[in-house]
Amino acid sequence: SFGRKRVKMDIVESPYVPPISEFHTHALSYFIQIKLSVWCRQPTGQWDLGSINSTSGEEVSVSLSNGKVLNVPTSELVPANPNILDGVDNLIKLAYVNDPSVLHNLRFRYSQEMIYTKAGPILIALNPFKDLHIYGSDYLSNYRQQLVHSPHVYGMVDAAYNQMMRDEIDQSIIISGESGSGKTETAKIAIQYLASLGGGSSGTTNDVLQTNCILETFGNAKTSVNDNSTRFGKFMEIHFSATGKICGAKIQTYLLEKSRIVQVANGERSYHVLYQLCAGSSSSLKERLNLRAAHEYKYLNQSDCITIGGIDDAKNFHQLMEAFDAVRICKEDQELIFKVLAAILWLGNISFKVTDSENHIEVVGDEGQIHTVTSAALLMGCTSQDLMAALSTHKIQSDKDTVAKSLTLLQAIETRDAIAKFIYSSLFEWIVQQLNRSLEVNEKHTEKSISILDFYGFQSFQKNNFEQFCINYANERLQQHFNRHLFKLEQEDCESDGIDCTVLDFGDNQKCLDLFEKKPLSLLSLLDDESNFAEASDLTFVNRLKNLLEANNCFKGERGRAFSVRHYAGEVLYDTNGFLVKNRDSLSYNSIQLLSSCNCELLKLFSKGINQPEEHGNSTFHIGALYSQKRGVGTKFKDQLFKLMHQLESTTPHFIRCIKPNTNNLPGIYDKELVLQQLRCCRVLEAVKISKAGFPTRVNHQEFSRRYEFLLSETDIPRDPLSVSVAVLQKFNIPSEMYQVGYTKLYLRAGQIGALEDKRKQF
Ligand code: ATP
Repeated sequence: SFGRKRVKMDIVESPYVPPISEFHTHALSYFIQIKLSVWCRQPTGQWDLGSINSTSGEEVSVSLSNGKVLNVPTSELVPANPNILDGVDNLIKLAYVNDPSVLHNLRFRYSQEMIYTKAGPILIALNPFKDLHIYGSDYLSNYRQQLVHSPHVYGMVDAAYNQMMRDEIDQSIIISGESGSGKTETAKIAIQYLASLGGGSSGTTNDVLQTNCILETFGNAKTSVNDNSTRFGKFMEIHFSATGKICGAKIQTYLLEKSRIVQVANGERSYHVLYQLCAGSSSSLKERLNLRAAHEYKYLNQSDCITIGGIDDAKNFHQLMEAFDAVRICKEDQELIFKVLAAILWLGNISFKVTDSENHIEVVGDEGQIHTVTSAALLMGCTSQDLMAALSTHKIQSDKDTVAKSLTLLQAIETRDAIAKFIYSSLFEWIVQQLNRSLEVNEKHTEKSISILDFYGFQSFQKNNFEQFCINYANERLQQHFNRHLFKLEQEDCESDGIDCTVLDFGDNQKCLDLFEKKPLSLLSLLDDESNFAEASDLTFVNRLKNLLEANNCFKGERGRAFSVRHYAGEVLYDTNGFLVKNRDSLSYNSIQLLSSCNCELLKLFSKGINQPEEHGNSTFHIGALYSQKRGVGTKFKDQLFKLMHQLESTTPHFIRCIKPNTNNLPGIYDKELVLQQLRCCRVLEAVKISKAGFPTRVNHQEFSRRYEFLLSETDIPRDPLSVSVAVLQKFNIPSEMYQVGYTKLYLRAGQIGALEDKRKQF
């Protein structure tokens, strides 16, 4: 409804100024005449504030704020906003939307600890890297009662919640940003707000909070950029009852970074839980699991980083156990989980010795190794012999009998690591299942939901692998969702209401999505194709791409095993090294056999979840799996993503873009280049321009006339709401370029409702 609250939220106070993105002669002379400020780009690329002295042809003489006078071409100048607009809380209030103005505005706010700024419909969140006193109960209740309106996660979630309750439409909050930008914290702040609604102390609400703690322990790790980096994508649906209280939740996870279990870069850590287990388990648990200190395990000590400053792993382990108890994961299951984790750690300590000139190996048999193998086998519930055989040999079934062939050193290490990765990722999925069971949404009670998506942002490093390939593909999809929401829907809405509204075109990324997914010739289908050939290699794969995909201009073949993709956020160079192995993600037949023969219930269960490759004598692939037309990790991820998009499409989305203001994780430092690069990745500027150019306020004629009819004198009042709307606009001399009248709604430019509200108050 068009109640008082709603109107308030739509008010944009600044006057409408026609957008000028570049100078043209007319604007220039105007700027000179009234000595307006301009941003002038220095040869270093930096923007400085100045004012124009004079022009001659294409050259302009500018006095900079530091006293210097420069002669620059007009292309190096853009208009600056008047001081009065410094620090506006919505970028659409800026008279001029350009890079330096937006950067200046965000910096102005950041320096005053105002980390949130709206950019049209998007909420920008700059990471403060320190605790700000803008959260907690007072703030929660102020936003709940709409006593404050400054941009905040609370405000955005409150709007989503109110829309859900009012329109009975599911809502989603889509959080994106690069690693360390604050997505996980933002998601927690959003959940905190939702948990506070309706008292906030119900059992289910607490379960939701505890679930987050468990997921973080198993899915987060210290990286070089973030001490608590989430290494998976997370989609959490929070369900509400008819009275608006949390009554259940459902979690979906994506792309857990499995490689971290076996390979950790220097200064980083594996998943928190492994260190917590070593540091915090009781002496009896330690004994049962034959546990050692973290630094004694190769999977943990390879990176020279066992502890994190300011983090107490032992204490967190106790919190984990409390969280398990809270979500009703029983003690027996907890013990099983810890056992599986200890088995992984011991597996990592198994090493191999080359025994002949052909690089064949055996499991090292000195005393220490025997202990290692027995410990791993005991925890897994198999015999040491079976474990050693699975790690060191490859069984080949010929016509009559089975021959065991020794593996090479590299094959043995890959086999061991593949088992460890498989066990951990299966454990992670199993825990998510248990959490979902515990949070179970009671179909009878649930009415509507708010989902929170916390997903890896677009990534472009010097070297980009299969992981970046999947993550960037997902970001293309999310970007399309964003475009569609903002632009296509905007246009459709206007067209169906018979009004003429030119929605700026933002560039469609369908071509890039086609490159990834349009059969028969797409990156993902060719990847699966090649993965199904045991003889294929990363090189044969990339050569096929180069031969078959050149027609799509988002694709570019590069030297050797590389190719590039023109993504919406920029061109990314991918190195196909490891693509096939990662896409196949297969376990050898022997390994599967081993796991299914284990006494450990969990391992047995996990082994049932795999599509078993057929045993095959002629398979030449190193660990003996035959790739019968199987769907690889990429295609499975595509299916997951389609499902996610389908779910998102039935919701009203709210976008939060998290931004990291510096790479040192320090408060108070604002690196303009870094911020700009992130704003470009999420196309914030374009979104602001579109919102500004359009008619962001839409009100249907009934609501509008009900609210403003009394402003007309009695004799003026026409009968139908549409005519009332027009009469009100005319009476107050609202210029015709400020609105459009549709069949059902009135479309107003930014600022117009504010003006009318002022008139209303004066009455
Ligand atoms: P990743 O993709 O690696 O998981 P992320 O985007 O989820 O990263 P966070 O883990 O949420 O990033 O944030 C990184 C760190 O930044 C946090 O550990 C915290 O120290 C700080 N931080 C983020 N947001 C806030 C905030 N609103 N207030 C205070 N500190 C914050």
